Amino acid sequence: MNPIGIFGGTFDPIHYGHLRTAFELQQALRLAEVRFLPAGNPPHRQQPLADANLRLRMVRAATEDQRGFVVDDREVRKSGLSYSVETLAELRRENPQRSLCLIVGMDAFLSLPKWHQWQDLLQLSHLVVSHRPGWRAPASGILGELLVDHGTGRIADLHDSLAGRIFIHAVTQLEISSTELRLIIASHRDPRFLLPDSVRKIILDTGCYLEKTPQE
Ligand code: ATP
Repeated sequence: MNPIGIFGGTFDPIHYGHLRTAFELQQALRLAEVRFLPAGNPPHRQQPLADANLRLRMVRAATEDQRGFVVDDREVRKSGLSYSVETLAELRRENPQRSLCLIVGMDAFLSLPKWHQWQDLLQLSHLVVSHRPGWRAPASGILGELLVDHGTGRIADLHDSLAGRIFIHAVTQLEISSTELRLIIASHRDPRFLLPDSVRKIILDTGCYLEKTPQE
């Protein structure tokens, strides 16, 4: 059975940078599925502007046409903080014999040592790090050492073991961020062609992101 890709994010809103990355990794790594996990209440960043159910709706709309893209709403349904390590432990219990690949952008990877129980992550899954515009892989320090110990350039390693490797993969660089999209929408400019039309429609219909202050 091919590995499961796990793509967590705030997705506030989901955009083509996320979707293209997920698609290229699905193809290149021969992932059986890419599971999108919108965060409920993210511990390491500002509160999202769109509420969790609306972000979930946008992720569903964006992914419904792609075979192998699956939406997992467990973090949205959970009250309180959601930590990647806890979600991964749950997924590991549900898939004891399956390779799991946690997909993160290079920006997220560089903040890994701030994640809750980050040292346990590699016991639960592989880490697949996608290049993002403007970010480089660390050559020294704690993450540089982690890459020396766990890094691999072989896709087969992600299939042959269940967890424990770090694979860095260059994806098409699309300089799109949710932050920039929220600014575009808040200033009444059109986000068209930066995200799927179905997501744009939800944004226009609900008027989300028009307010600049976070909703409670
Ligand atoms: P924000 O601007 O609100 O911080 P974001 O655009 O970075 O949001 P997130 O939902 O925080 O989006 O990102 C989820 C994951 O997707 C992270 O691992 C992030 O690195 C990755 N990612 C986001 N944008 C891109 C992009 N343009 N190309 C590749 N990966 C991306």
